[in-house]
Amino acid sequence: MKFDSLSPMPADPILGLMTQYRQDSHPQKIDLGVGVYKDEAGNTPILACVKAAEQHRIDTEETKVYIGPTGSADFNSLISELCFGITHQVIEQNRVRTVSTPGGTGALRVAADFIKRVNPNAVIWVSDPTWANHTGLFEAAGITVKTYPYYDHENKTLKFEEMLACLEQVSSDDVVLLHACCHNPSGMDLTQAQWDQIAVLAKDKGFTPLIDMAYQGFGDGVDADAYGVRKVADTVSNLILCSSCSKNFGLYRERIGACSIVGKDANAADIAFSVLLYVVRCIYSMPPAHGAAIVETILASQELKQQWLDELAVMRNRINGNRQMLVDQLKALGVKRDFSFISNQKGMFSFLGITPDQVAEIQTKHSVYMVDSSRISIAGIGEGNVEYLAKSIADIL
Ligand code: PMP
Repeated sequence: MKFDSLSPMPADPILGLMTQYRQDSHPQKIDLGVGVYKDEAGNTPILACVKAAEQHRIDTEETKVYIGPTGSADFNSLISELCFGITHQVIEQNRVRTVSTPGGTGALRVAADFIKRVNPNAVIWVSDPTWANHTGLFEAAGITVKTYPYYDHENKTLKFEEMLACLEQVSSDDVVLLHACCHNPSGMDLTQAQWDQIAVLAKDKGFTPLIDMAYQGFGDGVDADAYGVRKVADTVSNLILCSSCSKNFGLYRERIGACSIVGKDANAADIAFSVLLYVVRCIYSMPPAHGAAIVETILASQELKQQWLDELAVMRNRINGNRQMLVDQLKALGVKRDFSFISNQKGMFSFLGITPDQVAEIQTKHSVYMVDSSRISIAGIGEGNVEYLAKSIADIL
């Protein structure tokens, strides 16, 4: 084996964009590329509830001994209660098994290897478009990835009828990946009525839903954003849920998420769980413990949980406010094109809907940075730059 047989992989386009942004000396430059929450000052601060929980952990932690492949049992039950709801039938019927994972990405990779063990020939169906890492991640586990129609770039709507028609054809041996809320990259979510239809379709067709919940609480609220997860869990007998605490707890670099399996009964869930643990042992053996300890400290304390919900609401309201602010500014400048879709979409991202040439132009002329697809990170907008941003958009249109 010689490493010189390798050819270079393409660089992550967002990292390249960040480098260009850093090197740009334009005083009004705007970064709409990177997918992390930022406050008005452009910072991603540590939540106060996280700081408090971390202090508590420093004061009370007694050992650094191995935690085991499941991670923290308290975190696992608290996070599944947060996702499914404490009184959900899958919890009351003891049908959920959860492992703590290194972030949402770790949860997805565990899910991918689990799927490969359930059905080595499984196909996973992902939305067109979807989070850029989904495809590579599932392919790396040896799973075939296919797409179902999702976002209509032309009309800024959901291609729901086409999505349904495609999923009608999916085999009962396959998996369908759904974004729980705050669809990345389109911001276009299923309505509750559409979730109801998808849940029935999954049950009728027998495919396994895999729900990726990376932004619980960033759309409409912690419970509202879990509507789809809870509805699907109510309806089907098998489900995989991958969640992330990166965004909603601001724990990006601590790498904490969870992979939950719902089985048809407690016995089936136990068997699936043993496979899940085997998969974990073969990838990273055991998850990191620090992030889980912070989240469980917050969720187990009434006071810290309330503080977290309040801090999460601040992030959510800022993002929704930014959406409206941009739409209003564009309107105020007399821009003819209808951008109101931005205020109807949810979460961290939307497609601005400009061409790659216009993306290049707004970058060179106005130092406004976004990826080629014109996906914009809504958290990069603020009261201080929205007027400049709207003027730049108006100019390149
Ligand atoms: N799924 C989606 C849809 C995401 O947008 C992200 C993060 N960008 C993840 C999963 C992974 O999150 P984490 O940082 O926790 O690995």
